Amino acid sequence: MNRQLIDPFQRRIDYVRISVTDQCDLRCDYCLPKGFKDFEEPENWLTFDEITRVTKAFTELGVGRIRLTGGEPLVRKNFPDLVKKLGQLPQLEDLSLSTNAVKLGKVAGELKAHGLHRINVSLDSLDPKQFAAITGGGKLHKVLDGLMAAKAAGLGPIKINMVAMKGVNDHEIGEMLEFCIEHEFTLRLIETMPMGTTGRSATDRYLDLQPVRAQLAERYGLIPDIMPGGGPARYMRVVGSDSRIGFITPISQHFCESCNRVRLSVDGTLYLCLGQNDRFELRPMLRAGIDDDALKTAIVEAISLKPEKHEFKEEPGKLVRFMSATGG
Ligand code: SAM
Repeated sequence: MNRQLIDPFQRRIDYVRISVTDQCDLRCDYCLPKGFKDFEEPENWLTFDEITRVTKAFTELGVGRIRLTGGEPLVRKNFPDLVKKLGQLPQLEDLSLSTNAVKLGKVAGELKAHGLHRINVSLDSLDPKQFAAITGGGKLHKVLDGLMAAKAAGLGPIKINMVAMKGVNDHEIGEMLEFCIEHEFTLRLIETMPMGTTGRSATDRYLDLQPVRAQLAERYGLIPDIMPGGGPARYMRVVGSDSRIGFITPISQHFCESCNRVRLSVDGTLYLCLGQNDRFELRPMLRAGIDDDALKTAIVEAISLKPEKHEFKEEPGKLVRFMSATGG
């Protein structure tokens, strides 16, 4: 039977973000609290074989795009082995990675050889001091080395995710755009979301991206454009160049009506919406020996729980879990 994943609001789910760890080697102040230790127990982590099984089931249900995320995926031991397994799945069209790039320099070539297509890199500042302040001591030069290694390895198009924050890095947006134009990266600006205590405490730095887009349009000339990738950004092209800039605006202009994705966390929980608590536990089924057909039936059932929209604006106190736990 040729099944597809259609949710109760007639949205087709063709994109899954898979968190391979909830741990991270940075401590971005809007994401994970300093000194946080309450990570998932290793025995609860899906193994690479389990992740591959679930991914295969999703691809057989019409999911063509998978993004590996975290936490920081590159801190999971032997991560390239997982990419190699997933890279062999015949129905997977697009395998991508979200990373902070701190550890990317050494493995970019290997990941490309194993079948990774492209990467998104989080980078909130090009000022080493500001970068360290936001990330809890991160070294900017490592990220830049990782980015250049990825570019040399052909892991493109490379997208730079910048969480834009009032009074923190909003004065750097123009510089970041010019850096991206120079290196042929695509900049995406993101609004801060009230996820966990850290995300909520960052709401005083929340920057509405609608006026930012208008200012950038005036300064650089921006025209509406599209970019493949399946994600939530709305893109504009910078006049006179091939560069695009994307705006991810979950707060000022949400995009729930076109949501095409679900998230699998490291412990095998399927989260149906980033901003809601609706979930479906796959790990107990996997460990009880569920067969492939029943696994697909379970996934179809899970998709029927997908809520219509998040309520970041209406109920900013709702989500206790951090972004790193769900898989950003
Ligand atoms: N470590 C990888 C990375 O750095 O891209 C993947 C995981 S990280 C949690 C994914 C993205 O979530 C990053 O771009 C990060 O900036 C973003 N993020 C985390 N907490 C956020 C929040 N409260 N609001 C908006 N974006 C957030």
